[in-house]
Amino acid sequence: MDAEQLRENAHKMVDFIADYYKNLETFPVLSQVEPGYLSKLLPDSAPNHPESLENVLADVQSKIIPGVTHWQSPGYFAYFPSNSSTAGFLGEMLSAGFNIIGFSWVTSPAATELEVIVLDWLAKMLQLPEHLLSSGQGGGVIQGTASEAVLVALLAARDKVLKKVGKTSLPQLVAYASDQAHASMQKACQIAGVHPENCRLVKTDSSTNYALSPDVLREEISKDIAAGLIPFFLSSTVGTTSSTAVDPLSSLGKVAKDNELWFHIDAAYAGSACICPEYRHYLDGVEEADSFNMNAHKWFLTNFDCSPLWVKDRSALIQSLSTKPEYLKNKASEANMVLDFKDWQIPLGRRFRKSQKYSNRSPNVELSYRSLKLWMVLRLYGLENLQCYIRNHIKLAIHFEDLVAADSRFEVLSGKYILRFVVGAPLTEENHIIAAWKIFQDQTTLLLKSN
Ligand code: PLP
Repeated sequence: MDAEQLRENAHKMVDFIADYYKNLETFPVLSQVEPGYLSKLLPDSAPNHPESLENVLADVQSKIIPGVTHWQSPGYFAYFPSNSSTAGFLGEMLSAGFNIIGFSWVTSPAATELEVIVLDWLAKMLQLPEHLLSSGQGGGVIQGTASEAVLVALLAARDKVLKKVGKTSLPQLVAYASDQAHASMQKACQIAGVHPENCRLVKTDSSTNYALSPDVLREEISKDIAAGLIPFFLSSTVGTTSSTAVDPLSSLGKVAKDNELWFHIDAAYAGSACICPEYRHYLDGVEEADSFNMNAHKWFLTNFDCSPLWVKDRSALIQSLSTKPEYLKNKASEANMVLDFKDWQIPLGRRFRKSQKYSNRSPNVELSYRSLKLWMVLRLYGLENLQCYIRNHIKLAIHFEDLVAADSRFEVLSGKYILRFVVGAPLTEENHIIAAWKIFQDQTTLLLKSN
């Protein structure tokens, strides 16, 4: 890479992106294109000769942006937010600039050590129990997504129980979550070879605000044991995807302990809020967890992807996921002096990215330095500003709720058929909430008239 060429082109790219943010509100939030629109606009094979950056950016402007749904728009209220921030963006830039690999400590000591430090910082901000920090038998690792987090936790739990009861018992293993749990739980069961009928999605209802009832869970577990099955895993959620239900962690943790289940907590979306003392109580009971996960890439100003997972017993993960090929051997790992995060996750690679040295040997390695952007976010905002950020969104969401409550045609509820409205985009302000509410009202007026 030519450093001066990089300087010149990167400046142009930063200008382009800054202009995009400046104009963000002028774009329709949801892309208006029809399926297949892009193949009509782009040639059907790659160019033989290099093109200029100006030409490419002109195409991004005229052909790509119309097909973009603008997740960072202040008018974005769908799914859950996927926050970007200047700090997160700068962290990504630095990581792309270094473009190094961090699967083992030796491949880039700073990558592993920074990740350990940053996840201990974040664990302290969330007041996670001491045993989830790196000083004990546990520790944190950044996964790509919450789906990977629940999968690796489930794999560790599966292998731990199979070691005790024998590998042939796999068809008898049962995993539990509520029927509000994210679909990643089912996918994890599928990948881990849990029999499809043994992925129990326990029914919830409005009597518990769609939270998993410990009594109902206990009953299910007893029935399964009586039928000769082997309960081994419980995933509970703090902030379910469709109804933001919060499972009662303390009582569920007790059920898990009594029945020797691995207790996983999925706080993908809502976990971020627990850095504020007034919301921390939603994590009461996390002391019982074998693993705890939140997505910094959802509501924590950290560009996608960044999904911290903490485990109580790192050896369970390592035993399940470790491989020791000859070509990855090195003194530090052999001497057990370091952590090698390749053994805490599914892929070998972790972004800090592929280096020449290893690319011949392991062509599929692709790595990232996710801790760098999280570190930038924590340092450039500080706890105080991050708390303000969360509090402001919650204030805006309450304002929206007030608007709904003031219109007798609407009701705030969960379940049934609902309109789901999520406040969490970094640029959202009160005027965007009011504008969105006006759309709801106008459409309702039209709908009622047409009826
Ligand atoms: N868990 C919950 C509660 C979620 O809301 C989501 C996504 O919205 C996920 C897990 C999956 O997240 P990811 O895309 O990081 O796998």
